[in-house]
Amino acid sequence: MKRVVVVGAGFGGLSAVNGLAGKGLDVLLVDRQNFHLFQPLLYQVATAALDQGAIAYPVRGLLKRNPGLRFRMTEVTGVDLDHRQLLTAGGPIDYDYLVLAAGTVTNFFGIETVRRHAYDLKHLADAVALRSHILRAFENAVQESDPAARAAWMTFVIVGGGPTGVEFAGALAELVHRVLIRDFPDLPLDRTRILLVEASPHLLAPFPPALQQYARTRLERLGVEVKLGAAVTDAEPDHVVLKDGTIVPARTLLWAAGVHAAPLAGAVPGPKARGGRVPVQPDLGLAGHPDVFVVGDMGYLEWKGAPLPQVSPVAIQQGAHAARVILARERGEAATPFSYWDKGMMATIGRGAAVGRVFGVSFTGFLAWLAWLGLHLFYLVGFRNRLLALVDWAADYLRFGWGVRLITREERESAGLAAPSATAPLAPAPVAGSTTSPAPPTAPAARTP
Ligand SMILES: Cc1cc2nc3c(=O)[nH]c(=O)nc-3n(C[C@H](O)[C@H](O)[C@H](O)COP(=O)(O)OP(=O)(O)OC[C@H]3O[C@@H](n4cnc5c(N)ncnc54)[C@H](O)[C@@H]3O)c2cc1C
Repeated sequence: MKRVVVVGAGFGGLSAVNGLAGKGLDVLLVDRQNFHLFQPLLYQVATAALDQGAIAYPVRGLLKRNPGLRFRMTEVTGVDLDHRQLLTAGGPIDYDYLVLAAGTVTNFFGIETVRRHAYDLKHLADAVALRSHILRAFENAVQESDPAARAAWMTFVIVGGGPTGVEFAGALAELVHRVLIRDFPDLPLDRTRILLVEASPHLLAPFPPALQQYARTRLERLGVEVKLGAAVTDAEPDHVVLKDGTIVPARTLLWAAGVHAAPLAGAVPGPKARGGRVPVQPDLGLAGHPDVFVVGDMGYLEWKGAPLPQVSPVAIQQGAHAARVILARERGEAATPFSYWDKGMMATIGRGAAVGRVFGVSFTGFLAWLAWLGLHLFYLVGFRNRLLALVDWAADYLRFGWGVRLITREERESAGLAAPSATAPLAPAPVAGSTTSPAPPTAPAARTP
């Protein structure tokens, strides 16, 4: 029996495995995590709107209905294309066909201080760490006697005006102004500063201008400061530096400004496209290695003159296509080129509003938000997860009582979480143009997958 090895239990890998199930092949799915993660909702875990269990699903639970599908939890370290072997921490695995769907990692564009001090949203642990940090920031602010240091705990800088930055900013504003305001009666929460920084002149770049403007207006109404044409160039645990030299005292920095192909892409020989993505043939195969496919965020293919976006519909459709090509080959048929069915794009801006562009039609507001809700419930993996999400969302919507306001990370693990100045004196907030940075009480721990 021929063996197909699929790397990555994300959208692309799972879709490939589903397409291959029950077709008389030995299918092995490999991932370093034992769960599929629904990344588009990470920001809701980070803002305490959803329980982490609602957006992750154990892979073995997904595969159990198909005896032909197996799973190995291990780190993939490389590929030996000549010997048709996948190299893993648990030893080499032979394959007849290989599907690589290892996704991306956050791209900090080489800014080492930002990489060390910023939060990002890529793994489940990132979202839980950020949620803990946000809640602890307010706990620290309550105890802080120095107004400048307190303001820094209550300032949140978000870098990246794409869907992740916009959705996170909106959800954070609602968490603060509608939920935490009741939890912290002794804190002037109206002074919370949420600053969304975007290098280009637009929010939500791929959306039409009218939707971009709607998103901006809506965010500003929620109390988010939108700074376009600005970039973050440096960061320390207690401040962020903008390109124009402005120093923003802030204890929280979320980096949502870009991604880079997973390091595994480097193990595939040949030149790479922008963002380290692996260029593929029209059938998603690797040039010179038709038995190897690269799908999802890690691969690079142009469609109608532009690179395919790194979004879940592309990964899902490509995973299914790679499976179809493999099955066609097994039947002795020719491979067909991949064609993308673009259903559109959506982004929420807080509770009850969204922007959407579906089949060329733009829409905004509450109806767009309902459509977003339905779509995400549909795509969430597993009945249990859909139910959990529905219950959390219904509770949030009806009562505005976010239920997951838990600080679950150990102090040692949480980024930049020193005690406030009442117990550990904090250096004065830096001023614009200063060249020295106050010594950070603790450096943030690197967040691991
Ligand atoms: C915060 C955030 C918000 C997003 N919002 C949206 C949205 O609203 N709409 C949308 O369409 N898309 C959104 N996306 C993008 C979407 O999540 C991706 O396009 C999609 O996940 C890509 O699927 P994939 O299968 O290529 O990779 P992934 O889903 O990232 O899966 C990759 C898998 O490979 C595994 N892996 C990687 N390297 C190794 C290794 N060396 N060894 C073993 N396993 C490995 C990982 O553990 C992971 O399980 C968002 C992404 C993020 C991060």
